[in-house]
Amino acid sequence: MADTKYIFVTGGVTSSLGKGIISVSLAKLLQARGYSITIQKLDPYINVDPGTLDPYEHGECYVTEDGAVTDLDLGHYERFSNVPTSQANNVTTGKIYQAVINKERKGEFFGSTVQVIPHITDEIKYRIKLLGNSGKYDIVITEIGGTVGDIESLPYIEAVRQMRRELGSNCLVIHLTLVPYLAAAEELKTKPTQHSVKTMLEQGVQPDIIVCRTERPLTNSLKAKIALFCNVDDSSVIESLDANTIYDVPLMMQKERLDLEVLRKLKMTSKHEPNLEGWEEFLHRIKNPTSEVTIGLIGKYVELKDAYKSIFESFIHAGAINNCKVRVKTVHSEHIEENGNGNLMEGFDGILVAPGFGPRGVEGKIIAVNYARLQRIPFFGICLGMQCAVIEFARNVLGLKKANSLEFNQKTPWPVIDMMEDQKKIAGLDGTMRLGKFDCFLKPNSKAFQIYGTQNISERHRHRYEFNNKFSEQFETAGMKQSGINLQTELVEIIELENHPWFIGVQFHPEYKSTVANPHPLFVSFVKSAMEYSSSKSLTNKK
Ligand code: GLN
Repeated sequence: MADTKYIFVTGGVTSSLGKGIISVSLAKLLQARGYSITIQKLDPYINVDPGTLDPYEHGECYVTEDGAVTDLDLGHYERFSNVPTSQANNVTTGKIYQAVINKERKGEFFGSTVQVIPHITDEIKYRIKLLGNSGKYDIVITEIGGTVGDIESLPYIEAVRQMRRELGSNCLVIHLTLVPYLAAAEELKTKPTQHSVKTMLEQGVQPDIIVCRTERPLTNSLKAKIALFCNVDDSSVIESLDANTIYDVPLMMQKERLDLEVLRKLKMTSKHEPNLEGWEEFLHRIKNPTSEVTIGLIGKYVELKDAYKSIFESFIHAGAINNCKVRVKTVHSEHIEENGNGNLMEGFDGILVAPGFGPRGVEGKIIAVNYARLQRIPFFGICLGMQCAVIEFARNVLGLKKANSLEFNQKTPWPVIDMMEDQKKIAGLDGTMRLGKFDCFLKPNSKAFQIYGTQNISERHRHRYEFNNKFSEQFETAGMKQSGINLQTELVEIIELENHPWFIGVQFHPEYKSTVANPHPLFVSFVKSAMEYSSSKSLTNKK
């Protein structure tokens, strides 16, 4: 599109103000007005992608269809907009430098000194324009990670300055700041916002719109004060109050007229009023549930909800469609391991064993699977969760007592979870993973087929190890069915138990594909079976 518009979202004062949510809420509103939008996240850290970052540092890694390991904000974008993202949507400083250094080694700079300006900033601008030049989008929203004033984000702000100069009114900068409330003074304070905007001015960028994150409503005079000191129109100061759920934010931003202000500044006329019917219906459902279930989420990062972000969100989507409030209670797999039994899982209506890497807490996850299998509680295993289900079945049903995954015991006599030959050949931490979208064929008469309602699906992956097909027959005969298979590689993608109300393990990550508009069928069905389990429990209690 010749006239693609670029919106930059920067943050000031502190981190964690919710730039990602503001960006996706704006995207949602503009999309609901008929524009095609994409969102990009620029992360100022030097890791090439977050795949090698500890979840304690970074939270969940979100995986795109084309196998990019990205920031979790991209997950929000897909969940809000229902549009898939790609490699181009998440750029890190590591990626930028890697590209520039590769070019330098190939002699592509013809002997010139390679510098932050212009070479690094040119690469940043190239990555931003890549999306705009694809011809698919009216508007590209680029969120700059970090906080203005950080050394690391300087080249990005400089790239924004240059793009404004090139693009004029086709470009807009939104700055998100904090307006803190000082209890002792009983006042909201604008000074941090003023300082933050000054820092941007020092770097040559005047924000067009200021979004103020605040615990308390801003008065008109306070807004006018911010407008005056920060050199923006009065109507360009937008209040962003703390919300009950992130899904409220698009409607809150609509009330604040953020979308209209953006269109006015970009000199665009709205195609129509935003169509948010589906969104409002979804909000109504999550706020007015008619039933409730409690799901146990068994993982090793339970103190850190961001590590399982997409799983939590998938439960919100699946709960809404079932008019059910899904309470997700996390249980630390190491605590289950210490306990040595399933007591910590008493009272759950469903058990989900989470994805993960490394041996810590795995035996606890295996105990959780065992408990769900024997107590006939709905069970959902994702990635490592599925692998644990396979190990548990091998040990306790097939009698292969020392069965394990090669990841946890290289010497196991029964490697029921193994590494693919092809994967073994690839070196390097990131290279060895099976990443992104792969096809899966669902066997007729399987529960998986019944749930999806179609035979051919595709789902996203992020793992190294696989079900070992040498054991296929033994598992099938004993009742653990391989119901989803990749036909090209014969890799097992889904296992399920016969003679159990709901017991499914998936090698892929369904949580990456669940959105508000398209809740994931496996989560929807799992919640439904947890509801059935819950009502059968209360019936038995009444008897
Ligand atoms: N650690 C397992 C593997 O690499 C599972 C990975 C995951 O749960 N994402 O195969």
